[in-house]
Amino acid sequence: MHSPEEHAVDCVVAGAGVVGLAIARALALKGHEVLVLEATGLVGSDTSARNSEVIHAGIYYAPGTLKARLCVEGRAALYAYCEARGLPHRRAGKLIVASSGAELDKLAAIDAHARACGVTDLQPLTGAEARALEPALRAEAALLSPSTGIIDSHALMLALRGDLEDTGGMIAFNAPILAGEITAQGIIIDVGGDEPMRLSCARFVNAAGHGAVPLARALTGLPTEAVPPAYFCKGSYFTLSGRAPFTRLIYPVPEQAGLGVHLTLDLGGQARFGPDTEWIDAPDYTVDPARGAGFYAAIRRYWPALPDGALNPGYAGIRPKIVPAGAPAADFRIDGPEAHGVAGLVQLFGIESPGLTASLAIADMVAEKLS
Ligand SMILES: Cc1cc2nc3c(=O)[nH]c(=O)nc-3n(C[C@H](O)[C@H](O)[C@H](O)COP(=O)(O)OP(=O)(O)OC[C@H]3O[C@@H](n4cnc5c(N)ncnc54)[C@H](O)[C@@H]3O)c2cc1C
Repeated sequence: MHSPEEHAVDCVVAGAGVVGLAIARALALKGHEVLVLEATGLVGSDTSARNSEVIHAGIYYAPGTLKARLCVEGRAALYAYCEARGLPHRRAGKLIVASSGAELDKLAAIDAHARACGVTDLQPLTGAEARALEPALRAEAALLSPSTGIIDSHALMLALRGDLEDTGGMIAFNAPILAGEITAQGIIIDVGGDEPMRLSCARFVNAAGHGAVPLARALTGLPTEAVPPAYFCKGSYFTLSGRAPFTRLIYPVPEQAGLGVHLTLDLGGQARFGPDTEWIDAPDYTVDPARGAGFYAAIRRYWPALPDGALNPGYAGIRPKIVPAGAPAADFRIDGPEAHGVAGLVQLFGIESPGLTASLAIADMVAEKLS
């Protein structure tokens, strides 16, 4: 048996999801030599392929948090990038719907909250005004968010990959990082998969999504208190047979662990409903058809005419949570040397929604921490 080959590289990024790709691109554009190591054979095959593909306005997050700031910054950057690169997207707009009198106060609170987060374009609508926009809707009142949109997330990831490779960066596929060691000379990475190797790098970004916590635990020399716990909150989607009678995204007022069973549209006009929330012990992407019953009830609160039998099990994504069920929502953790004391290391934990929207702003922040 021979030992794996050893290489040295300036920056290594773990994970080729939308966040890892955006970070790798930002580092490459700053002139760094960048290698992305991806465990699977594809870009964006985990959470980045299993979400609602919504460009969020930035309405719900606690003011002053990274989620709030990076969503607003990232949304602007993402629209600009889509426009510059001709990427498929649409400023579809979204209605947040109060479907009973008891929810009216919640709409007012959401509007006030959004303003505190720097989102000042929400428009309060009466039920009649909302129905004038979307006649199939049942609404006591609504908030219109004109800056919410939809995006083809795979087209985005292909563009990010293209920029990375055009700038000299590389992605190694089937290259899972098994372990690492923090030394005075830099960070040593053990890579398994197709071509096992040892790498030493001056800068290492752990953007491994659900793999980020296990990867951090496998870094010798990192203080254990620098690694959060990991929890999994699954969200299942159901697709609609036939066309939905809506042109905007329709959201109920949010629930605790997610945004409620909402209607989003893809760029082809196909409607999907979800994600719901289900805390699970280990990743499992199967969609249980039995969950459909709960979907009918939730959707009919704002779309009473949803026909029986119209929903089909779609797909599921899993939110990479760092606090357990029932705890207040955690902020993104983007831990640089100031957090853990290790030069050249940035680790990203809990990058759930709005991570897609915020990806370009997260990337700038990480590149800044490593400059
Ligand atoms: C149900 C759901 C709905 C969502 N909806 C939206 C939305 O509408 N809008 C929005 O803005 N955000 C949304 N999000 C959030 C968004 O999808 C994520 O924030 C984003 O995709 C995270 O990207 P990532 O690159 O961090 O992680 P991932 O896409 O999970 O990528 C991580 C990558 O790391 C790789 N990896 C793991 N371990 C290792 C290892 N040891 N070595 C090498 N590679 C490794 C994995 O294979 C994977 O490719 C949603 C999330 C969920 C779960």
